[in-house]
Amino acid sequence: METKAIIKWYFEDHHNEIKNRIVDLVREMVREKTVNVVSEKLPEHPYLKFRGEEYRIAKIIRRELDKIGIPYEEFARMEGRPNVIGKLGMNVSGKRLLMPGHMDVVPAGDGWDSDPYKVIEKDGVLFGRGTLDNKGPLVSIIIAAEVLKRLGLDKQLKGELLIAALADEEAEDPDGIDYGIGYLLEEKLINPTYAVVPDIGENMKSIDVAEKGRTVFKVKAIGKQAHGSTPERGINAVYMMAKLVGKIENLKFNYEVHPVLGHPSLNLGEIHGGAAPNIVPGTCMIYLDIRTVPGMMKENVLNQLQQCIDKVENGKFELEVMSWNEPHAIDPNNELVHSIINNSKEVLGFEPKPFGMGGGTFAKTLNLKGVMSVGWGPGDDEAFHVANEYVEIQQLVDFSLLTCMVSLDLLS
Ligand SMILES: [Zn+2]
Repeated sequence: METKAIIKWYFEDHHNEIKNRIVDLVREMVREKTVNVVSEKLPEHPYLKFRGEEYRIAKIIRRELDKIGIPYEEFARMEGRPNVIGKLGMNVSGKRLLMPGHMDVVPAGDGWDSDPYKVIEKDGVLFGRGTLDNKGPLVSIIIAAEVLKRLGLDKQLKGELLIAALADEEAEDPDGIDYGIGYLLEEKLINPTYAVVPDIGENMKSIDVAEKGRTVFKVKAIGKQAHGSTPERGINAVYMMAKLVGKIENLKFNYEVHPVLGHPSLNLGEIHGGAAPNIVPGTCMIYLDIRTVPGMMKENVLNQLQQCIDKVENGKFELEVMSWNEPHAIDPNNELVHSIINNSKEVLGFEPKPFGMGGGTFAKTLNLKGVMSVGWGPGDDEAFHVANEYVEIQQLVDFSLLTCMVSLDLLS
């Protein structure tokens, strides 16, 4: 039998066993509250000693990899926030496929019909915080490695399959220090050729080959405080900002429409100003979230914002770049995308389509470091970061099977 046929047969023959194993592991992982929030918000989560607490999941991953017989390494920038990387195959071809899942989750939030940390199984669907984002897909990857190992197919891998349980995906402190993929790449602790990041949803129907650049700008209007009863003695920073806001609303960026990413976007997401009704506000602040497409340079975007500022008569503003990351887009005509499309056709009966996203995943970090990476995985995109987060069990099983197949394509 051809290798892929053997894997397919194995998944059919052991369907219930695989399914139960996935459900049990997801259930165990969801119980661990590996909630990641910015440091400022930690007091709202008294059950956390520090952000993420990913060690709780790493313990489970290590136990499973030991059981399967897969060697692994652990890298941590900080105790308690480790990344576990299991390795399967040989390093002969020099090719390495990274399959990363992240161990942290966003807070439960309100509106749940059941305990967010107790998995409910209903009609083939798992409900619970992290079932989809990202503990479910993480379990799929581990099970894929287990099946490859059990069938002895790891010996056919001339390259290495890196099974990665990563920390620190869901929140970023203003200091920008990263404990997950950023840390591993900065310190050159991993050096993958390819990566498939199962963190986009789309029910495996789309392959994320491009992501807009994500930038945040802060603009501060500087007026002059005065008593509220004598506004003529002050300069009202809110009025000043209001004039700028009108100009920003009508701002048209210079750019070329990208074939996959389309147009850039601008969101004025926050405005703060004033301290009390009887004080003329001395400052007013806005925050802009701008998603760029390839070709939009930082200087140009800054220039265009500056032009808006210059048009405000008697205005005084400070413009600051809070964060800037570049957009990325890969040519979908490559062996990684082809393998995903061909195997999906075989297993799922449809061909996923390449597309571009406004949000950012690990795929961006990896691509910007030269690793050919796409986002692709199970789950509904609407089920991320919401109450009653859910994932279909069958999709986790299929994703596991497809992980085996794509690994064989790229590494054997
Ligand atoms: Zn995620």
